[in-house]
Amino acid sequence: MQSIKKVGIFTSGGDAPGMNACIRASVRTALHAGKSVVGVYHGYQGMIDSNFEEMSSRSVSNIIQLGGTILKTARCKAFRTKEGRQQAYDNIKTAGIDGLIAIGGDGTFTGAEIFSREHNIPVVCIPGTIDNDLYGSDFTLGYDTATNTVIEAIDKIRDTAASHDRLFFVEVMGRDSGCIALNAGIAGGAEAILLPEKATAIQDLCSQLEIAAKGNKASTIVIVAEGEKNGGAYNVAKAVKDRFDFYDTKVTILGHLQRGGSPSSFDRVLASRLGFAAVRHLLAGSTRVMVGLWGNEIRTTPLEEALNNKAFKLSEDMLEMVEVLSI
Ligand code: ATP
Repeated sequence: MQSIKKVGIFTSGGDAPGMNACIRASVRTALHAGKSVVGVYHGYQGMIDSNFEEMSSRSVSNIIQLGGTILKTARCKAFRTKEGRQQAYDNIKTAGIDGLIAIGGDGTFTGAEIFSREHNIPVVCIPGTIDNDLYGSDFTLGYDTATNTVIEAIDKIRDTAASHDRLFFVEVMGRDSGCIALNAGIAGGAEAILLPEKATAIQDLCSQLEIAAKGNKASTIVIVAEGEKNGGAYNVAKAVKDRFDFYDTKVTILGHLQRGGSPSSFDRVLASRLGFAAVRHLLAGSTRVMVGLWGNEIRTTPLEEALNNKAFKLSEDMLEMVEVLSI
């Protein structure tokens, strides 16, 4: 095995708070080990376009607290083709990059796995996505910050909902994963939570809301994950309004504000630990693995295993708790 001399670092897919803290940790760990570091801008697209920049320790000064990603990110169609990946490989070879650190979600990991096998280039991945949907890590970068952002919004909506006796439907991110919806819903004291993992009949939701109405609650908040089976917050609100026309119903779609913002202390520490560990593993010869948090330890999981297992298992106990605590 030849030792790696130049590490390429990139962020890809959806941005997530903590990516910058992770870039900082990866860059400085590689520099500390005497390696050169190249930042690849716009994820896989940047490899295809040769959008590279040599990085020093100062390139990552004063970014630990910033949301987004200084390396930018992208969704790149061309990388899904063999020709696109060949172009990317030719460019990184010309730039002298002989090892990669990829920060992103499952799509990024799939691309990394294919690319690494096709061109025999070592790659270590870091779970960076607000969805918290990657097997092999208890938490992904950005999830904690995003959940706290949602809770802050719920608290504010609660103030206005309580003042007007309103029923609010708050839609949060999560096309396939209800992790943000469930945990933000519990922490925000939601009366009901609708998730992609479990179909909720409108009739059952109405029965739950009826209990809340009979309990003389001043406000009711229903958290709706964007991927839930009734088609999102507007559809759910309309179906409920047809049955409960005495309620003044309102819908709030939180949208992209959930992605932004300064990372929480949890995300900054996680980002630092994962960036540090990823580079150490890459330089020690690991490839096609992701680094993740298990309990309080950082462990590696083969990308194949991470991609073929489901991360978030819905706990029926938690759902029952939501119902019990909403009376
Ligand atoms: P998020 O979870 O935040 O959406 P992600 O990493 O899953 O992040 P994707 O858009 O799914 O985001 O993937 C990022 C990029 O990875 C894609 O734009 C594409 O360039 C590459 N990619 C995804 N799937 C493949 C694949 N099957 N083959 C090659 N490249 C892929």
